[in-house]
Amino acid sequence: SAAIAVKTGDVIAKLMAQGVMATANQTISTEVAQLVSMDFGTELSVERKHSAQELIEKQFEEREKKNVTRRPPVVTMLGHVDHGKTSLLDKIRSTSVASGEAGGITQHIGASQIVWNGKKITFLDTPGHEAFTAMRARGANMTDIVVLVVAADDGLMPQTIEAIHHAKAADVEIIVALNKIDLPGTDVNKVYGQLAEHGLTPAEWSGDTEVVKTSAISGEGIEDLIEHLDIIAELKDYQADNKIPATGWVIESKMSHGQGPVATLLVKEGQLKKGDVVLAGNGYGRVRTLKDSYGKNIKVATPSYAVEVSGLSEVPTAGDRFFCLEDINQAKNAAEQNLELEREKTLSQRSQVTLDNLFTQIEAGNIKELNLILKADVQGSVDVLIKYLSELSTDEVKINILHAAVGGITEGDVVLAEASEAIIIGFNVVADEKTRSIAESKGVDIRLYSIIYRITEDLKDAMVGMLEPEY
Ligand code: GDP
Repeated sequence: SAAIAVKTGDVIAKLMAQGVMATANQTISTEVAQLVSMDFGTELSVERKHSAQELIEKQFEEREKKNVTRRPPVVTMLGHVDHGKTSLLDKIRSTSVASGEAGGITQHIGASQIVWNGKKITFLDTPGHEAFTAMRARGANMTDIVVLVVAADDGLMPQTIEAIHHAKAADVEIIVALNKIDLPGTDVNKVYGQLAEHGLTPAEWSGDTEVVKTSAISGEGIEDLIEHLDIIAELKDYQADNKIPATGWVIESKMSHGQGPVATLLVKEGQLKKGDVVLAGNGYGRVRTLKDSYGKNIKVATPSYAVEVSGLSEVPTAGDRFFCLEDINQAKNAAEQNLELEREKTLSQRSQVTLDNLFTQIEAGNIKELNLILKADVQGSVDVLIKYLSELSTDEVKINILHAAVGGITEGDVVLAEASEAIIIGFNVVADEKTRSIAESKGVDIRLYSIIYRITEDLKDAMVGMLEPEY
């Protein structure tokens, strides 16, 4: 109110009228402050200060990298429930232990590293593609390769198709494990056809997708699968500096009785050692213990290593970036500021694209592509919608259909929409209560229709800023 020379009471009244319940000494977001100032006919120019974390991120990005070398690939298994993700991972671990030097029983730390023929591969245990995409929504693109697990007897199921779309949206390498190949009477060609239909034409059919037939029970194809992962890693030549102070992501975290906050960190670049000062989300501290996925104490972790560390002040959140810093006070300040910013952020929602603000966002140059997620009652409607909506693309805005499927709107759809700034369109389907409330809290726009031309009309109107407001 001082900046725009308006009485505090008037500012509060204006805020309340717009649904922001503020008091005189409460912090409001920059965006809200600017909007309110505009209502009073003043433009509030705000120089946005960078947070300590942002400055650190920038510093880390601009570092000189002198010791760039090959790093192991980071792999995630995705697929429909019960198609064998967990069993395959177990088999891969035991196979590699038998032939490698690591040995021992794996601890659950959210990731594990195997050694096979002297080469390392890191596997992340994401419990599903929702988690995979939720991490991506937070800017954590951890995975290099996705192994899409498809049970040969079941073929492509709804979650398999969702997983394909999530992996494609993340722009990672996809390799298919055609699992349960030991079961009698499986129709491989049928599954190949389904894969081809979803843009994953098998190499055996002259496509680009490697399909490895596996059995987590007999062990058939396991070595072949690992070998294929290794070939992709060779081709893509994943690299990172392994000498500079480490940075990476938090994969998992918990409060442990004996050790206090414990976090699994995936190193993206650099090295992480015992005693290093670490900043991770709201937590900071000196690394007290450093353990690999076999529970073995190690001295140093290098790129693509997943390690469990203790010594942090607070439990960070999965998906947080972590940084190795020189100065513990810098880490402390940044961690405290992160906590503060997190509180503010939950108060002012981030702005997702919605049909109502679409035109403003186009005008502002914020979006050039409109991402859509389509859900409909029958395949026929899905096909028609894809056709009609794709035709709406203009020179200014390209319509991009990220995911189109039969069925109700799920939490997975909302997570994907949030990560990809998409709008969800439902035709003759609904979203259950929980999904709706998640969408609301994330600011994801769900639009439900029962007449196709209304969808095309609304989209056309929204793209030119003519949409009637929805009350
Ligand atoms: P996830 O939900 O994808 O992690 O699937 P799981 O690994 O839990 O496996 C689901 C079920 O399928 C379990 O009963 C496994 O024993 C079984 N299973 C997994 N892989 C195979 C396989 O290759 N062959 C056979 N016959 N069964 C398998």
